[in-house]
Amino acid sequence: MAAGIPTHDAIVIGAGFSGMYMLKALRDKLGLRARVYEAGETVGGTWYWNRYPGARCDSDSYIYCFTWDKQLLQEWEWSERYPEQPEILRYLEHVAERHDLKRDIQFNTRVTGAEFDESNNLWCVHTDKGESATARYLIAAVGSLSDTNLPQFKGLEKFQGKWCHTSRLPSGGIDFTAKRVAVVGTGATAVQAIPEIAQQAKELTVFQRTPNYCVPARNGKVAPQLVKARKADYDGVIKRIRESFFGFEYDFIPKPVLETTPEEREREFDRMWDEGGFAFWLANYQDMFFNQEANDLCADYIKRKIRKTVKDPIVAEKLIPKGHPYGTKRQPLDSNYYETFNKDNVLLVDANTDGPIEEITAKGIRAGGKKYEFDIIIFATGFDAMTGPLKALNLKGRDGRRLREVWADGPHTYLGISIAGFPNLFTITGPQSPSVLSNMPVSIEQHVEWIADCIEMMSKTGKTTIEATPKAQEQWGSHVNEIVNGTLMPRANSWYMSANIAGKPRAFLPYLGPEGVGGYRRKCDEVAAEGYAGFTLA
Ligand SMILES: Cc1cc2nc3c(=O)[nH]c(=O)nc-3n(C[C@H](O)[C@H](O)[C@H](O)COP(=O)(O)OP(=O)(O)OC[C@H]3O[C@@H](n4cnc5c(N)ncnc54)[C@H](O)[C@@H]3O)c2cc1C
Repeated sequence: MAAGIPTHDAIVIGAGFSGMYMLKALRDKLGLRARVYEAGETVGGTWYWNRYPGARCDSDSYIYCFTWDKQLLQEWEWSERYPEQPEILRYLEHVAERHDLKRDIQFNTRVTGAEFDESNNLWCVHTDKGESATARYLIAAVGSLSDTNLPQFKGLEKFQGKWCHTSRLPSGGIDFTAKRVAVVGTGATAVQAIPEIAQQAKELTVFQRTPNYCVPARNGKVAPQLVKARKADYDGVIKRIRESFFGFEYDFIPKPVLETTPEEREREFDRMWDEGGFAFWLANYQDMFFNQEANDLCADYIKRKIRKTVKDPIVAEKLIPKGHPYGTKRQPLDSNYYETFNKDNVLLVDANTDGPIEEITAKGIRAGGKKYEFDIIIFATGFDAMTGPLKALNLKGRDGRRLREVWADGPHTYLGISIAGFPNLFTITGPQSPSVLSNMPVSIEQHVEWIADCIEMMSKTGKTTIEATPKAQEQWGSHVNEIVNGTLMPRANSWYMSANIAGKPRAFLPYLGPEGVGGYRRKCDEVAAEGYAGFTLA
């Protein structure tokens, strides 16, 4: 490559929902030369990597898709309320095919480093294939939940059976038939996987560190009349989800739960419970996010449901969350999760009452001084969320400053989309944006469109660099923290709070704006309308 002449106008890292739409916008809307690097062997991101039994989305399918291809919204038929991983992957493959995306995506290629070349105002990107490429713009579409977290269990290397993280199952899956299986973890992934594995395995042992509040998914076929009505009103649906709080067609109940009678709130709780999905979490009484007493009323309802469903009262007590308020961790959706613990072949080993995992042995796991033997161990131990995949890029900004160092005490961003000292770098659904606290396609599309508009503005006005000012970044960080500190979220040791990983500095990772994703969208649009307030353009 000749000095100063970039090999591409823009480089995108990742080919999930984010990278695919970013490529479409850069290439087909703006007419730019864009290159996408993707570590996986095809498109799909999350839906390529997560192939565990029971893997499916928890967002309703009619809004867990791209909204920019209006014709496809009419043509595509989802088989269920929450489609399984193979179906979502098929959908994303279809989008790639339909829009001829793959010709600009280099698969099986991991970006291992990138530095900003200040003399030419270009990003220089390096891959594990030993290649380098340059571009004016670098867009990280690396996902919020793509960096696998495998805790350093002592003795793992000695285990003689098979082991695997839920996001790294081989294609074709694992046959659990007649096997003694352990699942480590009880977060949203485990809650999907455990009932499925229990049906196949001879014995299933679940190792639980923190019990979660699970609410019913109520998956199934969607009534044809409802599918038809939604398709007829997609413009309305899109408008509502974009302006909503969480990117769903939900509104909070417009009354504090503390002002309700026991009968009234029981009716509302029953209604949301019967509706299934995230309704109980995201369309509940809003004060449950702020007030412990209000929260206890919602939590008690779920605790009663657990006690009613799980037959053995000792097991039920182990499954009841104790140390954190309801709604402050990612909501797992339950399809026979609690019922699974009534099966004779399923055992729960709870870190608090039975003792934590001490080590992995040649034959299995030792926990609380007791030895358990397994053929297969599945680690449902989640991800180094949000900051993990970005830090793994080994980015160097101005003056050679490394992102790892700049973020040593947690993320610092402006709007979750830009980082001071890292010009022309954009992070789709980056830390301190709504991202994982929303129906993500809504947040992804908003970021992609904002970034595309910004790049278009840059070329129209002949600007070369755009970067967040340190002051705007600091103010944004304070705003993110001030808002969340007014809620109950910091009371949980959740991955939202960076607390799932030993040594990760405690920081709230997403953005829980006072007006949700709708308000955040308006804020980003205002910034642009004010000539990119809070950014320096050169
Ligand atoms: C099991 C599971 C269930 C989920 N369910 C829901 C749901 O119901 N609703 C919802 O809104 N969200 C859900 N999510 C979140 C989900 O991640 C997003 O909805 C969405 O798929 C994110 O798309 P993305 O393109 O931003 O990121 P991803 O899909 O994570 O794609 C990022 C891609 O970047 C690639 N990449 C990362 N680093 C590099 C590198 N250095 N070099 C090259 N390539 C790289 C990865 O290989 C990956 O393919 C779920 C996540 C998981 C893990």
